[in-house]
Amino acid sequence: MRGNPGMKDGRCLVPWKRRHSFAIRLAGCFLTVALVSGFVVAFERPGAASNMLWIANGVLLAYLLLAPRWRWPAYLATGLAAELVGSTLVAGHWKQNLLLTLLNLAEVTISARLLRRRSTDLPQFTDSGYLLRFAGLAILAGPAVMGLAFAALALPLLHANPYSSFLSWVIGDGLGTAVTTPACVAIFRTGFRSASKEPIAWRFPVLLFIVTLVGFSQTRVPVLFLAYPLLVLILLRMGIAWASLGALFVTVTGIYFTLHGHGPLLIAKTLTSAAPVILLQIYIASGMFMLYSISIALDRQKATERRLQQIVSLHQIVTENSRDVIIMADFEERRSYVSSAAQRLAGWSPEELLRFKSLELVHPEDQPAAAAAMRELKSGLEDIMIECRVRKRSGDYIWVEASLRVVRDPATSVPTGVLNMVRDISERKIAEEELRDAYRAIEALAITDPLTRLANRRRFDQCLTSEWRRGMRDCQALSLLLIDVDFFKLYNDTYGHLRGDSCLKQIAESAMDVVTRPGDLVARFGGEEFAVVLPNTDKEGAMQVAEEICASLRRRRLDHKASPLGCVTISVGCATMVPGLGQHSPVLIQKADDALYAAKKNGRNQVYSANPAHAESVVPQAS
Ligand code: GH3
Ligand code: MG
Ligand code: MG
Repeated sequence: MRGNPGMKDGRCLVPWKRRHSFAIRLAGCFLTVALVSGFVVAFERPGAASNMLWIANGVLLAYLLLAPRWRWPAYLATGLAAELVGSTLVAGHWKQNLLLTLLNLAEVTISARLLRRRSTDLPQFTDSGYLLRFAGLAILAGPAVMGLAFAALALPLLHANPYSSFLSWVIGDGLGTAVTTPACVAIFRTGFRSASKEPIAWRFPVLLFIVTLVGFSQTRVPVLFLAYPLLVLILLRMGIAWASLGALFVTVTGIYFTLHGHGPLLIAKTLTSAAPVILLQIYIASGMFMLYSISIALDRQKATERRLQQIVSLHQIVTENSRDVIIMADFEERRSYVSSAAQRLAGWSPEELLRFKSLELVHPEDQPAAAAAMRELKSGLEDIMIECRVRKRSGDYIWVEASLRVVRDPATSVPTGVLNMVRDISERKIAEEELRDAYRAIEALAITDPLTRLANRRRFDQCLTSEWRRGMRDCQALSLLLIDVDFFKLYNDTYGHLRGDSCLKQIAESAMDVVTRPGDLVARFGGEEFAVVLPNTDKEGAMQVAEEICASLRRRRLDHKASPLGCVTISVGCATMVPGLGQHSPVLIQKADDALYAAKKNGRNQVYSANPAHAESVVPQAS
């Protein structure tokens, strides 16, 4: 039958596996512990009371460290049965094996209890703190405590030397646990998955297999030293599980050949009979130390890489989504980085902007300020902010605010360049310009007379005060004309107020036509009165301007039926002073007003000068 036969069963298999996962694990524990117990007993010294490398404890400890504490009794019971069965099947002596097994279980329980103070304390052999605790508690303390118990029982029960019994227990169990527990934890946890994404590099385990067999079995070709670099390569390429398994293979092979009288370590036999075994134990211990150290370093490096990756992606998110353009440049104005916001801001792609120097796109008028900011940064200022216009790809200019900050080498703190955050402020600039225009308009309204569009009384007062001061400073004459429309009450009565208003406008225009010199000011002084401020103008000049205004009005031929003169006329009071210390501008107004009064009194339609010594009036001739 075609099809996938596993599918139907597969659906049932997974829940079944899950339901019985604990039982499966217990069965695995039993098999592994029984196998390694029997194997080591048979393999090393059949019938011996102690072993130079006891790995069953390490396997059981790995199960305990990964299991919840409430399941420990089940694992310990399984371990007890497994060790007993494994070693008794191979070596007999069940009573002696039971004693040794109980000691072993006590040792595993002590180590597990000390390492697993909290139920959340999971094994972490790539963490230096955990590894130190593991070495102190499971490799040294646990075996040492039970080694003492074994030494105490060794003499009466086994007729063995207590000291050598203690030593062989501590070294055998400690080394066994050191080799086995991390390997089993790694294998139980991750399985034999490759550490890197590359395909599993089988050549390294194969080479290790060959090197180990060749290295331990003969003395002519010294290749044993190659085992360590191969273990490191396996660790780097395939992970800690494979490397630990490799170390276990090296250990077991080394024990087998050394105990059976083969290999390079036997040279040490000339010292003492135990020397080859001690050498082998040192060889294994230093190999494990090397693997642990490298895996810790690797783990730290991975953690750093992860952190770096997080920072890089965070940086990417920020730069890609920021509306501000982020630019990095050196002090020679060469850019090394431009964020993608440049495209949105000015239409330039980041690659195009990299080709420009820092000031190249800045508006020529703004370049001096931008160059000055760069100079300040070069000469020690940490940060500065400038507003300038930059050229868009379309050729238009856009207002930007550039926040410039010196970037330093994190190690040496030497300035390496400038970080530039560029923000589009064109909308703000438009709003600012509109605000300025509105302010200017309000300011103009505040000093303008709405009917005649001339300066109002407020502006007149400001102008006269400042011109008075200037005249005092420069010792220059200041003249003032006060103009009053003749019989204007009658004009309003005759033609109405609207015509009266329009008449006032025409009189204002007549004055404006004449007074054109910059610095002169024509203002509406009050109702139908006007004032003309003439800085740096003597009495003759003022009289001339006054007469020209009268003439200008006459040329307009504005009818005034109710006036004895038949047309609209004005009377002008003229005053000229060189402002002196202790005097104030109202004196000039008073003088002009007096002159105006005199002109009125004298028959109207004339210009009258205020100076009493040279008081004179000019009655304009009808043209
Ligand atoms: P005089 O020749 O002596 O100056 O006679 P007059 O009638 O002009 O007298 P006065 O200068 O006192 O006139 C003030 C008049 O000016 C009162 C008012 O009817 C008129 N007037 C003042 N301001 C305005 C204005 O804004 N519009 C109009 N239509 N008339 C104004
Ligand atoms: Mg008046
Ligand atoms: Mg008047």
